[in-house]
Amino acid sequence: MSSTGIDTAAPVVQEETGLVFQRCRWCGTASFRRLLCPVCAASDLESERSDGYGVVVRSSVVNRYTGTARNESLIRFPEGFVFRCRVVGAAPHLVWVGARVRPVSGGDSEAGEVVFELCEASGRVDWY
Ligand SMILES: [Zn+2]
Repeated sequence: MSSTGIDTAAPVVQEETGLVFQRCRWCGTASFRRLLCPVCAASDLESERSDGYGVVVRSSVVNRYTGTARNESLIRFPEGFVFRCRVVGAAPHLVWVGARVRPVSGGDSEAGEVVFELCEASGRVDWY
């Protein structure tokens, strides 16, 4: 038995998770994917990293009748910014307001889209 069998132990690559957002150097307002501060219109924004955990404040289904229904939610982050994005992990109409979400790692980054998933997968399905 060799004690140097480190090649069998797959290295745990800690992927960069979370979310990079911008904070205004002038007024401290946090924003996401903006070129200008939404409050004071300054362009002097500093990138910061959030852990990416947010809460759904509004949930809606787009293309409800086309067969390609998808969720579109407004997510509020503890840093103070809100962001509209898609939430997966449940049927589009089962994403509820108040649900905690986190970014899906390796999401659809090619399209520049940030996709979130529900932290609690069970949801409130048994409520209706
Ligand atoms: Zn500002």
